[in-house]
Amino acid sequence: MNGALNRVVARLCRGARSLERALLVQHCMLCTAPSGDQPVCAPCTSGLEQLPPHCPCCAMPSPAGSVCGTCSTSAPWFDRTVAAWPYRFPLDRLVQALKFHARLQLAPWFASHLAERLPPFDVVMGLPLHRRRLAERGFNQAHEIARRIAPLRGVQVLSSGFERHRATGEQSHMPHDARAANVRGAFACTLRLHGVRVAVVDDVMTTGATLNEFAATLKRAGAAQVINCVVARTLF
Ligand SMILES: [Zn+2]
Ligand SMILES: [Zn+2]
Repeated sequence: MNGALNRVVARLCRGARSLERALLVQHCMLCTAPSGDQPVCAPCTSGLEQLPPHCPCCAMPSPAGSVCGTCSTSAPWFDRTVAAWPYRFPLDRLVQALKFHARLQLAPWFASHLAERLPPFDVVMGLPLHRRRLAERGFNQAHEIARRIAPLRGVQVLSSGFERHRATGEQSHMPHDARAANVRGAFACTLRLHGVRVAVVDDVMTTGATLNEFAATLKRAGAAQVINCVVARTLF
């Protein structure tokens, strides 16, 4: 009797698992082909444009991947920038789908592509949003990615002890110098980070002014190294 019952239960469990797998099959957000348990299919993923040889510090294109002129004349506060892709079509659509349409299944996908590219670090954190922006959007896309990088690299994700206490407004149409002035003093950090290598996650790095200001805040809190970790880099 127990044997028969066990067999029935086992069969139900197998059925439930295959139903679950069938329901979990996703369709590629770029070409709509079935993409298994990933939001983007393998051919679309491998077809994404790669970054050309670039500066290890700011990820802007540079001859043979040397440190660029900008970083060698005035070194930014951050030590490195790891970017998964250039901010170009169609990757830009995916970045916007996470941020503006809450397609949260993209967060672990972005995280896995970033985790495999990052050099060693001790803790990871998402670039904080101002609390008003966070309330509007309901989530911080950078934190959503950061918290999924943490288990892949066996490190802790930090989610408190730092904030963006000043709203900086829309920066996308501002020139470089204006952006730097606009974000000055925007962040606060009460963490003690002495000797700690911090990976800071953001979705897109444009001029780097915001990430640079946050890196300065973390360095003042003692951080030994700040590594920017961005899904996409805008190339000028
Ligand atoms: Zn596809
Ligand atoms: Zn550079």
